[in-house]
Amino acid sequence: MSLAIAERALLEERRPLTRAEVDAVAALPLDDLPDLVALAHKVRLAYCGPEVELESLINAKSGACPEDCAFCSQSARFETEVDVYAFLDLDEVLAAARSTAAVGATQFCIVVAVRGPEERLLRKVIDAVELVQRETGLEVACSLGLLRPEQAARLAAAGVRRYNHNLEAPRAVFPEICTTHTWEDRVATAQIAKDAGMELCSGGILGLGETLEQRIDFAFELAELDPCEVPINLLDPRPGTPLAEQGLMSPREALQAIALFRLIMPGTWLRLAGGREKVLGELQALGLLAGANALIVGNYLTTLGRTPEEDHALLDALGMPVAEGPGEGRFVIDADGPHPMPARRPNIPLTVE
Ligand code: SF4
Repeated sequence: MSLAIAERALLEERRPLTRAEVDAVAALPLDDLPDLVALAHKVRLAYCGPEVELESLINAKSGACPEDCAFCSQSARFETEVDVYAFLDLDEVLAAARSTAAVGATQFCIVVAVRGPEERLLRKVIDAVELVQRETGLEVACSLGLLRPEQAARLAAAGVRRYNHNLEAPRAVFPEICTTHTWEDRVATAQIAKDAGMELCSGGILGLGETLEQRIDFAFELAELDPCEVPINLLDPRPGTPLAEQGLMSPREALQAIALFRLIMPGTWLRLAGGREKVLGELQALGLLAGANALIVGNYLTTLGRTPEEDHALLDALGMPVAEGPGEGRFVIDADGPHPMPARRPNIPLTVE
């Protein structure tokens, strides 16, 4: 019954689900997961289309971060074996961007492990952004931590299309995860990035110890920011971090969460990111049938991912075309020929009552 109500709301009435409606769906036993997954997939197709967008990351400055995010092996406060290096040479960034383009990805995200960028680093990032755009045509995103408005304006002027700044955890859980900055600091940067004209990419990590109810809170909190994209990481506990002993989410819990995120944010790009191999395991393909429509390909910031060839084979097997090029006005090509790529915003706007 609760799934039928959700289906009618999202696919016929085109309205967002209320919290009570989502709670009713979340209360279904995990044995009913196939029905929830099927609905999430229908919603994804109706709002976003069948394409899957691929993005690759470069960890352009690794480790030695002064912050204390409990899941992160790049914090200088924990004894981890993560590589520590300063901002890479421009040649290295460009080489990584060329590899990204070669595997069919259209998005390239420059990530640095800092609280926020100081002037010298920001200038280097802007040089890298301009070089990558000029030489590869890739869309460039950045993830540089907390921003001030003038920094965001400079990134936007340099052509950064999208800024990644994850909220990381539900508001109620965040103080247990990080003490060196606040959840509100993160929300403020997300807003600053949007105000500067960049698209917002903001998600987080599931499996930090949050309850199902908090996971749902988190999806609603993210939806309030109206991001164009939400990366969903699944905690892969890193040795040496305070969360090293945290157990993995079960694959079914992870799929339930992905599907609920899709129902709560029907038109947002949901990108499966770090930890998907480890947590979903044999059910890897189901992540893309449970509402996700984008992937990080290649390696993550501090962990290894699947090879791009494996992900292309997975998409082929699922009959899901790879988004051919970024942005509105571009086309994707599948067995039926070229057709317009879905807009980054919901194709068919939700009616908010
Ligand atoms: S998540 Fe980001 S801000 Fe937090 S410790 Fe890691 S690199 Fe630093």
